[in-house]
Amino acid sequence: MGLLTEGTPLTWEETKKLAEHVREHGINQFINIYKKLRDRKGDVLKWGDEIEYILVKFNKGAKEVKVSLRAVDILSVLNEKEYNDPNGVKSLWRPEFAAYMIEGTPGKPYEGTLAHFNVVEANMKMRRQEVMELLTQDECALSITAFPRLGCENFTDPPTVPTPNEGNTRSLFFPDAAVFPGHPRFMNLVRNIRERRGEHVAINLPIFRDTDTKIPVDDSYKIRKAAKPDCVYMDAMGFGMGCCCLQLTFQACNIEEARILYDQLTPLCPIMLALTAASPVHRGFITDVDCRWNVISGSVDCRTEEERGVKPLKENKFVIKKSRYDSIDSYLSEQGEIYNDIPILYNKEDYEKLRNSGIDDLLAQHIAHLFIRDTVSLFSEKINQNDEEDTDHFENIQSTNWQTMRFKPPPPHSTIGWRVEFRPCEVQITDFENAAIVCFVVLLTRVILSYQLNLLIPISKVDDNMQNAQLRNACREQRFWFRKDITTDVSPPEANRCCKEAMASEFKECNLIGQMTVNEIINGKQGEFPGLIPLIQSYLSGMDVDADTHCTIQQYLKFIQQRASGEILTTATWIRKFVTEHPAYKHDSVVSEEINYDLLETVRDIQEDIKSCPDLLGFRIMSKTKENVPHALENDV
Ligand code: GLU
Ligand code: MG
Repeated sequence: MGLLTEGTPLTWEETKKLAEHVREHGINQFINIYKKLRDRKGDVLKWGDEIEYILVKFNKGAKEVKVSLRAVDILSVLNEKEYNDPNGVKSLWRPEFAAYMIEGTPGKPYEGTLAHFNVVEANMKMRRQEVMELLTQDECALSITAFPRLGCENFTDPPTVPTPNEGNTRSLFFPDAAVFPGHPRFMNLVRNIRERRGEHVAINLPIFRDTDTKIPVDDSYKIRKAAKPDCVYMDAMGFGMGCCCLQLTFQACNIEEARILYDQLTPLCPIMLALTAASPVHRGFITDVDCRWNVISGSVDCRTEEERGVKPLKENKFVIKKSRYDSIDSYLSEQGEIYNDIPILYNKEDYEKLRNSGIDDLLAQHIAHLFIRDTVSLFSEKINQNDEEDTDHFENIQSTNWQTMRFKPPPPHSTIGWRVEFRPCEVQITDFENAAIVCFVVLLTRVILSYQLNLLIPISKVDDNMQNAQLRNACREQRFWFRKDITTDVSPPEANRCCKEAMASEFKECNLIGQMTVNEIINGKQGEFPGLIPLIQSYLSGMDVDADTHCTIQQYLKFIQQRASGEILTTATWIRKFVTEHPAYKHDSVVSEEINYDLLETVRDIQEDIKSCPDLLGFRIMSKTKENVPHALENDV
């Protein structure tokens, strides 16, 4: 989730008073980083994945499964290993928002050779195993995006109760005790986001209407004016930040390449969100959306009524369109500039200060825009900093802008270069799927750079796609804005021909973009669009790769192709199917304790390879059990 500063959190009132201070010094700190590191070059591709897990506890006799609030215990053992042997561990473990979550990454980043794709899955497997060894027999670490009965009565182990009238969350459903207790950052964010907003966060997801679905969904709307009767209402940060994802970080060779990657991966965010959709059930109800995105967005929406445009501006400066967790608002590369078609808010003085320090328009605008957000987490020990050396104030704002992409400057005094983070993907049940997605995205970055592809579309269209991507069955049924001619003269001739022919044959006014299904984008459309996988294949055909790695990569690509074409299901569709076909399901959109138990037991058996599930995974050629995890150079990708 981001930066963990040690220390004593300030109250919201104290934090609020220091908003300008953090803004001023945060921007100074960025300027200093930039001045020192803008010319840094010669870094090589390094990359890594991050997977978040939910700890659960099964009660076979009662047919119940709860989230297990033992992350603190488990992490203390995992972190002890790292402490004792910081360079030798093959995995790194970090806390996440909830007391039932943990986050794992490879111990060292992967590098540019294709052979690294052959150890990604094994490392994921090893990580899972490492956690499993610390759990009791009835516990399990599941890589599921959302716990289906989060916020239902008695959803935790040990049992806890929500406290609507006191504490920090003050939710009708989500107890403070389910927030990670091992570090004050998380609870502090809960309180400050609620206090800044001036009321509970409010998430209303449309319910999936089955034949016997009850509307109003529950009585929330009688108690809370923000609750919509025909929606699943959620009122706590935990509903969003208690969800899990799969993220990727890339190191670029220099700042320009990082800016290109940041931009080029942006139009892929909604496509990858649709392809990885895995969270149709929230608070015990089947909803009409397949993804976590808007849930998290709403769960950390700290905008005041003025900023949300509910009340006229008086105390605040801006009406802000989005939450701090949302899709990015502007491209950063030269090529991207003309596609920045949504207004970008920032304080003029901040922008000017950045410009006067030699930062170009696009980057100045990006940084100034991040800084329209106030700090929502400040520690007393960190108030006064040396802007030449420290970067905490910059990181404070950067790490609480949770966007689809993140542009990351090198940490000072490190061997790490300019990086970008790819953040939209939902986490999948199996290591196989997660590894396939990771390898696919990394390969895409190679193809984009080698063939100098241009995937850019107006950024407003990326926003439209983000919303469509979350709809029920979007991966099969929705069409997404996509660039029709993505090739340049260094791209493969067949791909070039395909795009050019399609462009010439159309007489539309705006010929740049069209609407395509995920299948067309990934697999291509005869005579119209080359498809991302065929482009990857063409790239791979020119590469030297050992037979075993080749086989692994082909297996992953086949999986992505089948997911895109609908031959195999998205996790979200599979979960819907499981629930609605369960004998105890009453066609009322309710996921009961019993259904939840059977669902998560099946998830466990699939991830453990006890049960095969061709519906979800296709037919795998072989099982990957390689042990040799690569030995790379850096610690923190
Ligand atoms: N769990 C969040 C998500 O699902 C991401 C938190 C983080 O930034 O690590 O998007
Ligand atoms: Mg995380």
